[in-house]
Amino acid sequence: MKIDLTGKTALVTGSTAGIGLAIAKGLAGSGASVIVNGRKQATVDKAIAEVKAAVSGADVRGVAADVSTAAGCDALAAAVADVDILINNAGIFEPKDFFDIPDADWTRMFETNVLSGVRLSRALMPGMLKRNWGRIVFISSESAINIPKEMIHYGFTKTAQLAVSRGLAELTSGTAVTVNSVLPGPTLSDGVSDFLGAMATQAGGSAEAMADSFVKEHRGSSLIQRFASVEEVANMVVYVASKEASATNGAALRVEGGILRGIA
Ligand code: NAD
Repeated sequence: MKIDLTGKTALVTGSTAGIGLAIAKGLAGSGASVIVNGRKQATVDKAIAEVKAAVSGADVRGVAADVSTAAGCDALAAAVADVDILINNAGIFEPKDFFDIPDADWTRMFETNVLSGVRLSRALMPGMLKRNWGRIVFISSESAINIPKEMIHYGFTKTAQLAVSRGLAELTSGTAVTVNSVLPGPTLSDGVSDFLGAMATQAGGSAEAMADSFVKEHRGSSLIQRFASVEEVANMVVYVASKEASATNGAALRVEGGILRGIA
C-alpha cells in the first residue's frame, strides 16, 4: 500500500509541537498540502520550517489561532476554507487532584480539548459532505477509557471526544466522508518530555530514567512497556486520513501499546 494524498488539503490543530507536528510531517510526506496551527505566529513559522526540513518539497502553510476560543476557531476556519482532512489534535493535560480542580479549569479543558473539535467540525464538515470526500480525526487518548484519577477532568474531555466523533460519523452515512478517533497512550511528545523533566528534577534523577520507569510504574499493563514515539502515533493518523482507509468509519483506533486490556 502506498498512501498518496496528493491534491488533498489537511489542517492539523496544535501542530507546532509533539504529536501534531509529527502528523503534519506525515501528511506532508504523503503529498498532502498541510496547514499547521498554533497560538503564536513565531512558533507556527518554526513548525512550517520544520515540516519543510523533514519533507523536501512539502506544501505547507500555517495559521496562528487559539482553538480554545470561539473567535480563534472562527478565524482558523475562515483562513483555511475548504479542507479535506481535519485533524483535531490540539489538547492540554495537567495532573491535578480532583478536589483542587476549580470550575475554570474544567471549562478551559473542555473548551480546548472538546469544543475546538466541535467548532471546527461544524465549520468544515459541511464542505466535506458537499464534495463527498473528507476525513475528520479526533486525537483522543487511552485516558478516555482508563480515566486517570490524577486528571479526571482530562479523562472526561477525552471520553467526550469519542462521543462527538462517533456522533459525527453517523452523519456521514452513505458518503465518502469518515470520522474516527485515535487513542494514543503515553507518547514522548514535547509536552510529555517537559512533564517528565519536571518530575525528574523533583525526584533528583534524569528525564531518561523517569521516562523508563514511568510507563512500568503508572501504566503497568502496557504491552510495549515504553512510551510510544510521536511518529508511531502519526503513522496511524496518516493511514486513517488516507484514501485507503475508506471502510474505517466511526471507529476508535488504539495506538496505546496494549494498556487497555479489553478486546473490543
Ligand atoms: P504537546 O503539548 O506536545 O503539543 C500540543 C500542541 O498543541 C502544541 O503545539 C501547542 O502549542 C498546541 N496547542 C495547545 N493549546 C492550543 C490552542 N489553544 N490553540 C492552538 N494550539 C494549541 O501535546 P501532545 O502530547 O503532542 O498532545 C497532542 C494531543 O494528543 C492532545 O490532544 C493530547 O491530549 C493527545 N494525547 C497525548 C498523549 C501523550 O502522551 N503525549 C497521550 C494521549 C493523547
